[in-house]
Amino acid sequence: MTIRHHPDDETLLSYAAGALRPGPALIIATHLEACAECRRAVARLEAAGGLLLTEMAPAELSTGALEAVMARLDRPQALPSRVVPLPVRRQPRLEDLALPMALAACDVGPWRRVAPGVRVSRVRVPNDPKAKVIMLRVAADKQMPRHGHTGIEFTQVLTGSFSDTGNHYRPGDFVAAEEGIDHQPVVGGEAECISLAAIEGRIQFRGLIGRLLSPFAGL
Ligand SMILES: [Zn+2]
Repeated sequence: MTIRHHPDDETLLSYAAGALRPGPALIIATHLEACAECRRAVARLEAAGGLLLTEMAPAELSTGALEAVMARLDRPQALPSRVVPLPVRRQPRLEDLALPMALAACDVGPWRRVAPGVRVSRVRVPNDPKAKVIMLRVAADKQMPRHGHTGIEFTQVLTGSFSDTGNHYRPGDFVAAEEGIDHQPVVGGEAECISLAAIEGRIQFRGLIGRLLSPFAGL
């Protein structure tokens, strides 16, 4: 698998720092599973972060810092933005499809046909039931629904390929659609395309398929 499209450094840093929300973090975890290059980058960032912490002199902690930390621990936990691996993990599946291990802790819904050649599965992420994560399964040569964004959309290609805004994305590739983009990805002719996507903010569909997809995906 030759991976040509990776998350940018800022995104990997946010992931390493645990600063991404669970939905987008799941897409990065799925990419890391396929991409040794980004795994190495994240390991370097995590090591650098650890070094930074160990180099902080204890004197830099103000009086009462320990009490403040303990008080925070007593409060209800904030949502962890990293996907915590289960101790025992079996390869998750959806019907005949082997899914990335990153989805092992997720509740993956059945395929639902939302339009000819377009099926969607809702993915529920632990610790963030409202995270908008879907798997999209689109037939070869088919256009995905045209849509705009009020937030970012992270997509990881699992099988097949698609073209979007002048690039061609294949299995293992990661795509970040920025806020404000209006696009209509087109699936390659060689096979159906299955991708995993996390959507932040609102997504604004155009056309019939989009209108059908919109209420289903809770977008
Ligand atoms: Zn990568």
